[in-house]
Amino acid sequence: MHISDIRSTRATSLRREGSLTTIVTGGAGFLGSSLCRALVDGGHRVICIDSLITGRLSNIADLLASKNFRFIEHDVIDVLDPGVIDEPVQRIYNLACPASPNKYQANPVHTLKTSVIGSINMLEMAREKGARILQASTSEVYGDPKVSPQTESYFGNVNTIGPRSCYDEGKRAAESLFHDYNVQYGVETKIARIFNTYGPGMDRDDGRVVSNFIVQALEGRDLTVYGNGTQTRSFCYVGDMIVGLVRLMESAPGLTQPVNLGNPDEFTVLELAQQVLGKVRTTSKIVFTDLPIDDPCQRKPDISTANRILKWSPKTSLDEGLDLSVAFFSGEVAGLPVANTAVV
Ligand code: NAD
Ligand code: UDP
Repeated sequence: MHISDIRSTRATSLRREGSLTTIVTGGAGFLGSSLCRALVDGGHRVICIDSLITGRLSNIADLLASKNFRFIEHDVIDVLDPGVIDEPVQRIYNLACPASPNKYQANPVHTLKTSVIGSINMLEMAREKGARILQASTSEVYGDPKVSPQTESYFGNVNTIGPRSCYDEGKRAAESLFHDYNVQYGVETKIARIFNTYGPGMDRDDGRVVSNFIVQALEGRDLTVYGNGTQTRSFCYVGDMIVGLVRLMESAPGLTQPVNLGNPDEFTVLELAQQVLGKVRTTSKIVFTDLPIDDPCQRKPDISTANRILKWSPKTSLDEGLDLSVAFFSGEVAGLPVANTAVV
């Protein structure tokens, strides 16, 4: 099960290095807050940098009391005064960027600046601190892929001027920057291409498909399938993703090429809606609405690189992960304080 796997990851790859000071940008968001929690829980010091544009302080409320956790409210497109972090830093996870299509499309220029200028600022910090830095890239660098499953060697099929371009092209430019900082300045870089990840800790109003469907079902509203629902996604549980990110960060310095992280089990969006309806006692039905422009038709990672080099593969099935997510969102919808137990 994923929980013991996370514990063994901490025990092997993290503790072997001793206690590390790690910056997590975007640490108040969905993935970032789970990552911060896993690192603090593993005995590390974490400095979370977040502008709270899509993140929430409530995601890290439990961590704020820890002496090993520090929160800095800051937008990564602005240069951070060097005096603000006047201690050695060994690791930087660069997760800052809205990830839900409706959130990253709300201010596309800011989204692009976040990936491009924000990455430059964090790469400069890595260079100055001598820290290793990991970029949270995305399956969106493949755009609407013409090959399936997507291998890391596939260059992608991306529109430069569509509604998703601010995200896709920003993330592609960030990958190039990470590569160039490695080649030109010797910064130790890692690039994780993250495929659709879901689970406890997501904002109920995030807008992505898993949280939308579960919250709609719990509230008795109809599930909004965009298009005819035949488009596919491969959904990875958050606990598995955090293990993969840490394992990539702690891999040999020579591993600088992008690595796909995701669950290769592929489902249509309609199948996902049906699975959610099978788990929630509800009067909700499925309704079909317009498919957004440039919505990718299929998405399925080839994870043989992660498998071979990181010895990583996801352990949590969609069935299990949806149960854990329904439990989490049930508490959220009922207005109960819900502990995020995704990775602890
Ligand atoms: P999220 O929106 O929940 O978290 C993003 C966090 O970054 C938020 O806390 C937000 O406030 C912060 N942020 C955004 N712009 C910022 C800026 N300019 N300065 C400082 N902080 C900023 O999204 P998430 O799902 O947790 O995604 C985290 C990262 O992983 C993102 O970079 C995203 O592109 C990447 N990713 C996620 C998925 C996924 O399925 N969850 C898939 C592919 C890639
Ligand atoms: N989707 C949907 N209904 C929703 C939200 C999303 O049918 O309420 C679809 C969306 O069109 C896409 C898939 O679900 O085909 C995944 O969307 P999401 O926003 O979660 O992430 P994406 O993979 O598009 O970045």
